[in-house]
Amino acid sequence: MAPKSKPAKQPSSGFAHGYEFGGPLGTSAITFGLPILCYVFAFGCNDVSGCPAPSLLSPKTLTLERLKADVGWPEDGIWGLASWEATGYTVAYFFLSALLYRILPATEVEGTVLSTGGRLKYRFNALASALFTLVICIAGTIAQGAEFPLWTFIADNYLQILTADILIAYAVAAFVYVRSFSVKPGNPEHRLLAAGGCSGNLIYDFYMGRELNPRVTIPIIGEIDIKEWMEVRPGLLGWILFNCAFVAKQYRTFGFVSDSIVFIAVVQAVYVIDCLILEPAILTTIDITNDGFGFMLSFGDLAWVPFIYSQQTRYLASHPVALGWLGIAGVSVVLVAGFAVFRLSNLQKNIFRTNPDDPRVAHISYIETKTGSRLMTSGWWGVARHINYLGDWLQAWPYSLPTGFAGYTILAAGGSSGAEGAVARLDGREVVQGPAKYWGMLFTYFYIVYFAVLLVHRDGRDDDKCSKKYGEDWEKYKKIVKYKIVPGIY
Ligand code: NDP
Repeated sequence: MAPKSKPAKQPSSGFAHGYEFGGPLGTSAITFGLPILCYVFAFGCNDVSGCPAPSLLSPKTLTLERLKADVGWPEDGIWGLASWEATGYTVAYFFLSALLYRILPATEVEGTVLSTGGRLKYRFNALASALFTLVICIAGTIAQGAEFPLWTFIADNYLQILTADILIAYAVAAFVYVRSFSVKPGNPEHRLLAAGGCSGNLIYDFYMGRELNPRVTIPIIGEIDIKEWMEVRPGLLGWILFNCAFVAKQYRTFGFVSDSIVFIAVVQAVYVIDCLILEPAILTTIDITNDGFGFMLSFGDLAWVPFIYSQQTRYLASHPVALGWLGIAGVSVVLVAGFAVFRLSNLQKNIFRTNPDDPRVAHISYIETKTGSRLMTSGWWGVARHINYLGDWLQAWPYSLPTGFAGYTILAAGGSSGAEGAVARLDGREVVQGPAKYWGMLFTYFYIVYFAVLLVHRDGRDDDKCSKKYGEDWEKYKKIVKYKIVPGIY
């Protein structure tokens, strides 16, 4: 039987929580800066001139005109960043995802106990929904190969889809922000405000999210839990679809598919599918239990994940790298090690929290806290307080390593450069590394650095949360389990 835990306290009045993410200034910078960073990635590493665009490597001779030509700036200027067609199809994709959520068979699961004492019901079928979409894509690819219209559309409208996703993320965040003011105490729907998102500062609350579990009822679709739906549906599946589009693009550009791009596309698909198989486990994550739904999650789910997480396959689509069996074996070892730590530690906590009598966790020692919750002090969670983060971070390496010492320049057609490692494109142009070598790593290894920052920051937030929740029991736990993420080091 699961140990009973008292529901978390809800904000009553005032903002006792304290600012995170650098407060209003930091969240303003993130809210407007990260979408710009997505464009920097899209233009800076491109299929027109190189990765990075060659003019960025010679700042002394840099002119705006040359830069525009190098990065493939749209002919009709800033308006070219968006199109009705790409926006329409992006909205249609969201609608399809919502429709599958409604019509495919699902399991209904109750969420964790809220501060009202009630529980919300969740409808889980993200896996079936993703598989349904992927089967259609596989059938289309079998019939039409790399020319399957979805793949060509994504590749040809990359910027415009990015803009559509960013605009939708802003719109959804604005919608839930405004709507959160209709949350009344003691409402029968168990609508709640999130402790961290009610500072009274507009931009800060817009970013953090005021409402904990915003839900909306849409004609035909019915009620949707916006946060849970966004976390596991359009963006995560979009990540897989982008990777597939880049594999197809590599084939159309070079006439072959490299082992490196297939490796990354497959392992990232496995990561996503694994997350969808374990969809109910999302109910105990910080995102669901603690954070409000605001721009942080809407942008992260809709734009950041599919666009930034697929940078490696996007890079390889324009510069294939051959890993060979030895290379594949090397990155696989890191991957399996990371995946094992990540999966086994998360599983152990899940089992321990849902059924502590399960023989797989019966031997685990723990602290019985005053709240009624138990904190494991041996097993994976006795090694480091967030050993699961270490596993997750290790998995990031095999995403980037296959891009090697990244960087390339696309040469004009006509004659071979004779450069070592030059790759011929079907259009007669040639891709060489040249002076761009190593600089492309800014794009393809970004994920590892960003993810480390995210996890260290997340560990700090969780520590803060647990410290408030468990008080001296948490301090006792920290004395027993000394390391935060990396045993013996950090
Ligand atoms: P965790 O799964 O790490 O859960 C943290 C919570 O677990 C704590 O708040 C506490 O909750 C409970 N807990 C802490 N210590 C113990 C213990 N010793 N024994 C039992 N329970 C304990 O939180 P996250 O939501 O951050 O992470 C979930 C997974 O998602 C991770 O593997 C992470 O790497 C991954 N992730 C991936 C991201 C990506 O972009 N790919 C982004 C973010 C996360 P309680 O109040 O219930 O006690």
